Amino acid sequence: MGVAGSGLELVADVVRYVAGLLLRTVSRVVGLVFRVAPGALDLAFALKALVARCVAGLLLDLSFDLIPIGHVNPPLGCLIWSFPARRAENAGYAVFVEPLADSWGREIKSLRVSVTDKCNFRCTYCMPAEGLIWLPKQEVLTFEEIARLVRVMAGMGVSEIRLTGGEPLVRRDLPELVRMLTATPGVDDLSLTTNGVLLDRLAAPLVEAGLRRVNVSLDSLSHVKFAEITRRDALDAVLRGLEAAEAHPELRPIKVNCVAVKGFTEDEVPALAALARRKPYVVRFIEFMPLDADEAWEDDKVLTGAEIRAIVERHWPLEEIPAKASSTARRFRFADGRGELGFINPVSEPFCSTCDRIRLTADGHLRTCLFSRREWDLKTPMRAGVSDAQLATLVRQAVAQKELKHRISDPGFTRASRSMSQIGG
Ligand code: SAM
Ligand code: SF4
Repeated sequence: MGVAGSGLELVADVVRYVAGLLLRTVSRVVGLVFRVAPGALDLAFALKALVARCVAGLLLDLSFDLIPIGHVNPPLGCLIWSFPARRAENAGYAVFVEPLADSWGREIKSLRVSVTDKCNFRCTYCMPAEGLIWLPKQEVLTFEEIARLVRVMAGMGVSEIRLTGGEPLVRRDLPELVRMLTATPGVDDLSLTTNGVLLDRLAAPLVEAGLRRVNVSLDSLSHVKFAEITRRDALDAVLRGLEAAEAHPELRPIKVNCVAVKGFTEDEVPALAALARRKPYVVRFIEFMPLDADEAWEDDKVLTGAEIRAIVERHWPLEEIPAKASSTARRFRFADGRGELGFINPVSEPFCSTCDRIRLTADGHLRTCLFSRREWDLKTPMRAGVSDAQLATLVRQAVAQKELKHRISDPGFTRASRSMSQIGG
């Protein structure tokens, strides 16, 4: 026990320890129920809300209010749940850094960082043909601000960072940000999602700065259809961008993402699948989600992963291969061993139960789900001068409110508060 070592402090530490343990255990049980029996979710939620929040949270708070901690590095104090971390830290405790987890027991490992809301394409499933108002420059996070937030979150166990946008390559000096983030302790995996149109120029400096993975969006190999869906005649530039990426063996895997829209994509599938067979690209089909600025999404515009697979299998049989539990994609290889496809099926096969992602918008708001209607402003407190520990607390509070799941297929579904290019997909 601590140097003060009064009986009361011992009791307080035991209470804190038990309450922390209870919170974590309930979180894990809820997480398990969520994964194993999603049908029992409402019951699980009630359990979490009543037991964890009311009992354990109250005990923790009371213990800190009634019996302030006044000693250094007590063995039980090291184990306290990070919920009251600030008060513990101020009192000199060595706070155990609890992984960043939401109230459903899901650990957050992955952060998508939007570096700009601007884009040089106007994909029909994402942006309007014209008229989206850009963020004022002063509202966009600087590289230093992004790097600071990434450092804080990496300290909480976030190890995968994906740069996105808008179109991330229109942000000037992006390789500089890549350099800053690859040097951040705890960041193990830095990747980029791009429409590829500027990649032929930027692949080399990005690789030189430390980028090791890239996803390139490509919806069609036909010039006419490419221009139809992106509203830009830029297929050749994107293909040059892919070639430039391919020229760097450090940049692997190269993933090619195609948003599948019913009535448009069916005819593109064989050529895109053939691309995965002749090039070192993993081609992935993403179901169209209701995140388009035009709000033209409808249920029957979703071409499902299963439908695409059926089209591919008319030409080449596929075999499923294991994917990481937190992966958004189901992975398939061609049965003859030549190439790999992925299917990201958020509409027909939601993967919310294993979601380990949060998002940072270009203007510094944290979003805990693509479909969030609520955001957590980190930029204002950061610019007002809060400490890293306070930023970490804000992140934890936001993550605790992470949505259980998207409700695309539920009656009364409400669209997200921003469209895809403004969020950062
Ligand atoms: N501009 C870059 C690009 O297109 O790759 C990065 C940003 S973009 C918003 C990120 C990803 O979101 C891309 O793979 C894009 O195809 C996908 N996307 C955009 N709108 C979508 C929608 N409504 N449904 C599904 N995916 C979408
Ligand atoms: Fe731009 Fe990417 Fe959206 Fe297309 S999907 S409009 S490239 S942000």
